[in-house]
Amino acid sequence: MTEQERIARILGRLDEAYGTDSRTYLEYGSAWQLLVATILSAQCTDARVNLVTKDLFRKYDSLEKLAAARQEELEQDIYTTGFYHHKAKNIIACAQALLERHGGEVPSDIESLTALPGVGRKTANVVRGNVYGVPSIVVDTHVGRIARRLGLSANDDPVKVEFDLMEKIPEDHWILINLHLIALGRSICKSQRPDCEACFLKEECPSRGKASGSGKGAGKAGKASAKAGKKAGNASAKASARKKSPAE
Ligand code: SF4
Repeated sequence: MTEQERIARILGRLDEAYGTDSRTYLEYGSAWQLLVATILSAQCTDARVNLVTKDLFRKYDSLEKLAAARQEELEQDIYTTGFYHHKAKNIIACAQALLERHGGEVPSDIESLTALPGVGRKTANVVRGNVYGVPSIVVDTHVGRIARRLGLSANDDPVKVEFDLMEKIPEDHWILINLHLIALGRSICKSQRPDCEACFLKEECPSRGKASGSGKGAGKAGKASAKAGKKAGNASAKASARKKSPAE
């Protein structure tokens, strides 16, 4: 089986297991609401964020109201999502920056997005993928860990993992791969005790029966596979990746 065939099988099995709906689990009614929901989702479950934003977006039903919010009050409103002090501070500053720099619109380019307070590449890519349909790969802890275990990346740095995946994964799976690997990471390929025997990717996974922890410093099998994949490459995906480089 070539590396390209192995990756195609992995993607096919993920599609079968989790479907091909690439919408985020976060609920939102506008671009700025998704931005806020994604900021709140750091170290918090999507289900909890959806509970909190249901009331939050009713109370602050415009960017202007959010920009003028009192920090202590907003902290109480988002308390249950954790890290409420930083999140409240960033959300207010982000709302103000959107009004001041972008006329209340959420920009679509990665530089402008990541220049906003509290917005990193992960948040920016969630917004780009879901709001603007720009194929983007969001790398969180699940995605990074499982990419390493599957031999799709030998890197620990999330930005490098993002680029490794852009090289290997066809563009039509860039948004989906995040949702799929999160679903796999929550249910089967958990950080500490991956259930390899129950895993539908065990035939294609070089870390089967060997994985534990974050997968950082991926084992020999994973690294060799990642290396092989790099060589084999996917010409069309590579071309797309170059087109969508971080400097875009
Ligand atoms: S076989 Fe094991 S390590 Fe590989 S993806 Fe499945 S659960 Fe994770």
